[in-house]
Amino acid sequence: MAKGEKCSFCGRGENEVRLLMPGRDGCICDECAEQAYLLAEEYLHKRRKKDSKWAISLEELPKPDEIKKFLDQYVIGQDDAKRYLAVSVYNHYKRIMQAASDDDVEIEKSNIIMVGPTGTGKTLLAKTIARLLKVPFTIVDATVLTEAGYVGEDIESILTRLLQVADYDVEAAERGIVFIDEIDKIARKSDNPSITRDVSGEGVQQGLLKLLEGSIVNVPPQGGRKHPEQKMIPVNTKNILYICGGAFDGIERKIAMRLNAHVVGFNGGGSNNRIDRENLLQYIAPQDLKAYGLIPEIIGRLPILTYLQPLDREALRRILVEPKNSIVKQYVKLFEMDGVKLTFDDDMLDYVVDKAIEFKLGARGLRSIVETVMMDAMYETPSSSKKKLHITRSYAEKKLEKAKLLAV
Ligand code: ADP
Repeated sequence: MAKGEKCSFCGRGENEVRLLMPGRDGCICDECAEQAYLLAEEYLHKRRKKDSKWAISLEELPKPDEIKKFLDQYVIGQDDAKRYLAVSVYNHYKRIMQAASDDDVEIEKSNIIMVGPTGTGKTLLAKTIARLLKVPFTIVDATVLTEAGYVGEDIESILTRLLQVADYDVEAAERGIVFIDEIDKIARKSDNPSITRDVSGEGVQQGLLKLLEGSIVNVPPQGGRKHPEQKMIPVNTKNILYICGGAFDGIERKIAMRLNAHVVGFNGGGSNNRIDRENLLQYIAPQDLKAYGLIPEIIGRLPILTYLQPLDREALRRILVEPKNSIVKQYVKLFEMDGVKLTFDDDMLDYVVDKAIEFKLGARGLRSIVETVMMDAMYETPSSSKKKLHITRSYAEKKLEKAKLLAV
């Protein structure tokens, strides 16, 4: 290097810096090189964030009524749950964007708990909302969780799945959504704390609290059980949104008890005929969850409480045909791929609904009943020259009857 060279960026000479590196038409000193590195790193980080498949912007943010309309295409009824979910998810987005800005008003997160009989659409709602979102989303089952040190999966494994969905992009996972199914299964079994350990009850709830509270949690990248050799990934749970779902079998009794006490206590009886006793879930309140065995700390961390209605005959009938990927539409498509136009008698669809109610299978049963009815046709039609197939009630009756005989 020629004598008297200076850094082309800060102008300092060889004697004023630790290192002066020559380039083609100039030089750079160690400090300027470091500055340049930091600037480039910051710029590239922002770029990566913008280009990431998890990037979101205010303009793209779907409004609550848009979220609900989207849900309407796939889920029948359950309007209250849809509205709560839509608002909560919308606020989740806003909170994430707020957290990225310098404003010091911090928006608290609003985790949700959905209570409703099995097969009424809790998981379907969560899954459907995930299709709309550009944040990592995962579904976990609370029944597999147990307290650290016992058989079952550690609580932290919930976040492993989120990390996996986010391709181990920790920043993306840190603003993801987790649906915890069957949360009622980790309720305390009885109100008396017993001497024996409640492995799948209160201990798990305490563990879960750590995730809900917003803390740094060390997550085993491969999931399962923690073991000493495994390198942990620290994940901040502050911006992760939790949606919990559970059937809470028998919680109506707790609601009824509370409502009765209330009516007697304040109005001296008489006004309880305004209560719709057929659907008590709509009156659910946090204290009912406590009576059921969730610890108050958990309830406090799930401030949005909503419910799902049991599905009546009309709802089941609509589920068969209306959703964007309804069972009927799926079968029509399947046959269309073989060049066959498939149609169903209205009477036949009513019959499927009747059977689903009779078997007490709810919406889950609709699919298996239609599957049983269609099995022979699906086997035979691809090799036949038929171009049309119309399914009548008596055809369905015969096929179900035959399946029943085979099952005996
Ligand atoms: P759960 O409430 O037990 O989580 P799911 O959401 O898993 O019930 O419902 C089971 C299946 O029943 C779904 O995959 C869907 O096909 C059907 N189903 C249930 N509820 C509805 C609904 N409200 N609208 C449309 N389909 C539904």
